[in-house]
Amino acid sequence: MSTSEVAPPTDFIRNIINEHNRTGRFGGRVHTRFPPEPNGYLHIGHAKSVCLNFGIAAQYGGLCNLRFDDTNPAKEEQEYVDAIEEDVRWLGFDWEDRLFFGSDYFEQMHDCAVQLIKEGKAYVDDLSAGETREYRGTLTEAGKESPHRDRSVDENLDLFRRMRAGEFEDGSRVLRAKIDMSSPNMNLRDPIMYRILHASHHRSGDEWCIYPTYDWAHGLEDSIERITHSICTLEFEDHRPLYDWFLDQLGVYHPQQIEFARLNLTYTIMSKRKLLQLVQQGQVTGWDDPRMPTVSGLRRRGYTPESIRAFCERIGVAKTDSVIDVALLEHCIREDLNKRAPRVMGVLHPIRVVIDNYPEGQTEELDAVNNPEDPGMGTRKVPFSRVLYVERDDFREHPPKEFFRLSPGREVRLRYSYLVTCVKVVKDERSGQVVELHCTYDPNTRAGSAPDGRKVRGTIHWVSAAHAVQAEVRLYDRLFNVENPGEVDSAGFQGILNPNSLETVTAYVEPSLAGAAPGSRYQFERLGYFCVDAKDSLPQRLVFNRTVTLRDTWAKIEKRL
Ligand code: ATP
Ligand code: MG
Repeated sequence: MSTSEVAPPTDFIRNIINEHNRTGRFGGRVHTRFPPEPNGYLHIGHAKSVCLNFGIAAQYGGLCNLRFDDTNPAKEEQEYVDAIEEDVRWLGFDWEDRLFFGSDYFEQMHDCAVQLIKEGKAYVDDLSAGETREYRGTLTEAGKESPHRDRSVDENLDLFRRMRAGEFEDGSRVLRAKIDMSSPNMNLRDPIMYRILHASHHRSGDEWCIYPTYDWAHGLEDSIERITHSICTLEFEDHRPLYDWFLDQLGVYHPQQIEFARLNLTYTIMSKRKLLQLVQQGQVTGWDDPRMPTVSGLRRRGYTPESIRAFCERIGVAKTDSVIDVALLEHCIREDLNKRAPRVMGVLHPIRVVIDNYPEGQTEELDAVNNPEDPGMGTRKVPFSRVLYVERDDFREHPPKEFFRLSPGREVRLRYSYLVTCVKVVKDERSGQVVELHCTYDPNTRAGSAPDGRKVRGTIHWVSAAHAVQAEVRLYDRLFNVENPGEVDSAGFQGILNPNSLETVTAYVEPSLAGAAPGSRYQFERLGYFCVDAKDSLPQRLVFNRTVTLRDTWAKIEKRL
């Protein structure tokens, strides 16, 4: 990873770490973790957290763990564990031998709970879920103590043992911390530590029928792994006093929780629950559908790990929520691919062009530049012959004023090739649609300019019909047609999904693309960046995904800023 050329960013999190290093709070150690719950695929918001946690560890010469926070068997699956590992690795990060699972600590967590019960700091409660809610009070009103709050230690120990042994039904009892039912912080009103749930866990199987809550589990996981800085999103700020309370009562090693603002993106939803719904309802083809904001979707779409890391670095970290323009993400992939992607020619909406005065059966090999940004990438040969395809959009029978491409009587430059003039338009008699153009070429213009110096303004791309390779091209656009789809309840998704988020066309591409490797990325000149679909493309039946068009709306936004 090229972290050397840019100065490491500074932000409030790094300032806190610098201060800890100065005072020696953690003996100069920096040890972070990325703690996904394996109940869905990682999305671009998670990527921000991955880059932050692994990035900070690398910058300070510390360590970062990958830890699955797998404490809720109801929604968790091995499929998600595997996908998350693949995505973190693809983003460019390495947890070495530090792969952990919260479920591996269930026994230790249980022992800690027993310790709190023995110290009179936790109790078994029999209130129903509804009653618990009622007793909890509101933001303006203190809660009420449960009638079971003052059970003896022995009774609590016995009930907790029997909860674990499976004697009670789901939801009939919970273990709660005994803190303060009138605390202004609702999280401290005797929070629940364990629920009864007779469910099979993807790792521990049927060994447990009580499962820890996030608040109880998370700090312990951090403590057991001797994490120094437990970085999480802002919604946990109000949970920090509880995080601290648990660890203080237990008297164990105590990391520092730090909260930052989660990433929100325009035209994008970031809720795993809602993303799952899109998958389940078939509105996308899967978690890795190229329209999904998931890491696997972005990868399939053609995003590079470098572009995602650059994006995460540019957005930085802050303490207040904001919404980032998705155009910035698109800008980052263009910036990366502009430097790296070889240029090729492909025609998405083809129209046939016959060069009347070009000898039938003749082929010429023309030199084309692979990347004007990088001369080291060299040139390639592109075949030219009598019948070509050009983009239907590049012809207008009645051209408006500023249209400099093909039209009757008009001369244009074919990229890397001759100047041609349109001499005849063939239409379908019934529909009136233009089906073929006839042109003449000037044999003295092979280098793309006329020896007599006459000016030709338009340059269009083309492929030789006889040599072209047919390919399926998937033209992706935004999945949602409103700027803040996250604000719409998932029941209303139907109304805000962009009906044109996928257009599939049969295109003709230049023969150098024959057999292109899955995942490889190209710029189709004048059209955008495309990659070979990693799942559906076959050597004899190429499938391309459009990663992004060339039009950079972010660059325009930035100019205005
Ligand atoms: P859930 O609602 O299922 O808890 P989650 O998005 O919080 O969803 P986790 O698996 O708990 O998912 O997230 C793992 C880590 O990624 C957490 O530290 C979380 O704070 C962070 N994270 C999740 N979403 C974002 C986001 N949009 N921006 C930045 N970080 C995020
Ligand atoms: Mg979460």
